Amino acid sequence: MAHGWGYGATDGPDKWAENFPIANGPRQSPINIVPKEAQYDFSLKALKLKYDPSNAKGILNNGHSFQVDFVDDTNSSTLTGGPISGTYRLRQFHFHWGGTDDRGSEHTVNGINFPCELHLVHWNTKYPSFGEAADKPDGLAVVGVFLKIGAANPRLQKVLDALDAIKNKGKQTTFANFDAKSLLPGSLDYWTYDGSLTTPPLLESVTWIVLKEPISVSSAQMVKFRKLLFSGEGETPCCMVDNYRPPQPLKGRQVRASFK
Ligand SMILES: [Zn+2]
Repeated sequence: MAHGWGYGATDGPDKWAENFPIANGPRQSPINIVPKEAQYDFSLKALKLKYDPSNAKGILNNGHSFQVDFVDDTNSSTLTGGPISGTYRLRQFHFHWGGTDDRGSEHTVNGINFPCELHLVHWNTKYPSFGEAADKPDGLAVVGVFLKIGAANPRLQKVLDALDAIKNKGKQTTFANFDAKSLLPGSLDYWTYDGSLTTPPLLESVTWIVLKEPISVSSAQMVKFRKLLFSGEGETPCCMVDNYRPPQPLKGRQVRASFK
């Protein structure tokens, strides 16, 4: 592995530690969540998400996933409450998914995989920018949402319809007026723990907030995710599938639950 990293046999999660030794650090993500070992914490507050649909800006195939980016120069789309103090701003959301419906999530629950996992990435406004927050222990807060096979999800469809335009690595297009809150489940009950980015550079800067209740996605919708390509235009086409890191050792960390 030279500079690049990916999800293949030669550059995948097992090899990341060669260039990013923090891969074996004390607070790596994702993890397997064991609900009966999570500690209910009555002091955990309700999550407050205030998202302005007009902050949605663009959608990009970054070669590892695709992400929807948000304007983050004011406090108009924020996460407060929950396990965090202060105000965190929405920067982007992206997904991880499998080659088939039986795998694809990064976090697992009792060892069970979901076909897909949504990550909403926020940064702590006590720092001047996302870039400066990204390597601080309290710099980022990511809300993780599992997707479970069921009825087609109409709220996902606008995102999926944009994917044809960003098939190859490096492609982007505008993506405006989208309410990220529409992707959340009815219940905002969550597990929380201190962890990391799940992609290189694997920085140990993330307060993870993993929602208990999944949202639905149909098998046909999952097929649309898998039509994206890891490869750039003119390269040998390579389907974007299995872009997830498997669970990492807990190393003594406590997972807390906002619910009994
Ligand atoms: Zn992610």
